[in-house]
Amino acid sequence: KMEEKQILLDMHKEAAKYFYANLRSLRGQQASEYLNKRKLSKNTQKLFGIGYSNMDFGDLYQYLLYKGYEEEHISKSGLVIPKKKGKGYVDRFRNRIMFPIFDVHNQVIGFGGRVLDDSLPKYMNSPDTPLFDKSKNLYGLNYARTSGKNQILIVEGYMDVISLYQAGFENVVASLGTAFTYQQASLLKRYTGEVVIIYDSDTAGTNAALRAIPILSSAGLKIKVVQVPGEKDPDDFIKQNGPEAFQQLLDHAMGAVTFQVSVLRKKYNIEDTEQKIKFTMEVAQLLSRLDNEIERDVYLQEISNDTKISTQSILNEIKKTQEFQR
Ligand code: ATP
Ligand code: MN
Ligand code: MN
Ligand code: MN
Repeated sequence: KMEEKQILLDMHKEAAKYFYANLRSLRGQQASEYLNKRKLSKNTQKLFGIGYSNMDFGDLYQYLLYKGYEEEHISKSGLVIPKKKGKGYVDRFRNRIMFPIFDVHNQVIGFGGRVLDDSLPKYMNSPDTPLFDKSKNLYGLNYARTSGKNQILIVEGYMDVISLYQAGFENVVASLGTAFTYQQASLLKRYTGEVVIIYDSDTAGTNAALRAIPILSSAGLKIKVVQVPGEKDPDDFIKQNGPEAFQQLLDHAMGAVTFQVSVLRKKYNIEDTEQKIKFTMEVAQLLSRLDNEIERDVYLQEISNDTKISTQSILNEIKKTQEFQR
């Protein structure tokens, strides 16, 4: 088993080198232009080992066989899929920009691949293999963990990580397009005490942030949240507005509860009495989970000013919820 893992690691390194050289060859010209268009410098492309997978069906598969890897191992790598008809395999990734996924020891354990146009699926990732479990890894952590910053930024995608890194924010990871897991949270906790969630500012991103908060919190991490203005992601924002503007967003990051309350605030129209009551009840639920009484009182004041419901009534509601939880 140990041996198998080592073989798969070697194979992934070989595949990464193959994609990397491919991007820099004649066949990779279009892909290379695409990356230029997305403003990734040659140095950044090199740092992240970005490559390109060919149009053809079995290039990598043939290459790996030629390099002496056995079919049994190649089939377990996730780099190929069985042919629909007949025997043999075809490459999983074709005509895609290839992002190697590194573990914390800088070893390639999987890949993400992006199409060069608007076709779907936009991204494809390696499936779970003996090397790669997407619920236990974070893209960019190999760099973020040694960035020397006192917090780690969590974004959604490959391009967000790379683009922020290029702009000087090296302390950034992405959760590889899945719901944030407890394993990922405790992995982060080994390297930092504070995280900043900066997901895409669409409904999907907002909901994903709401779901990530209790998971990160249960790992003992302090959590802040940044909402990127406009329907944008961090990559779009920093390209349009530059690193200083992004730093300003970070400086004005919200506490997790402020974020949760602000989402509730948008969900309900507090001009309407029924909705105002529901809103206040839900906020009381949220605040009942806050251990810090001072923090809780600050929110209590804000909500009371907003809704014109007395702090005492809200506090009573919080107390009721707490008793119920016990
Ligand atoms: P780009 O900027 O290149 O257009 P993005 O990173 O902004 O892409 P999103 O649609 O916001 O793309 O998705 C965020 C992340 O979710 C992606 O970077 C990728 O890791 C993951 N993802 C998106 N679509 C898929 C998919 N079809 N299968 C697997 N993962 C996906
Ligand atoms: Mn999105
Ligand atoms: Mn994007
Ligand atoms: Mn995005």
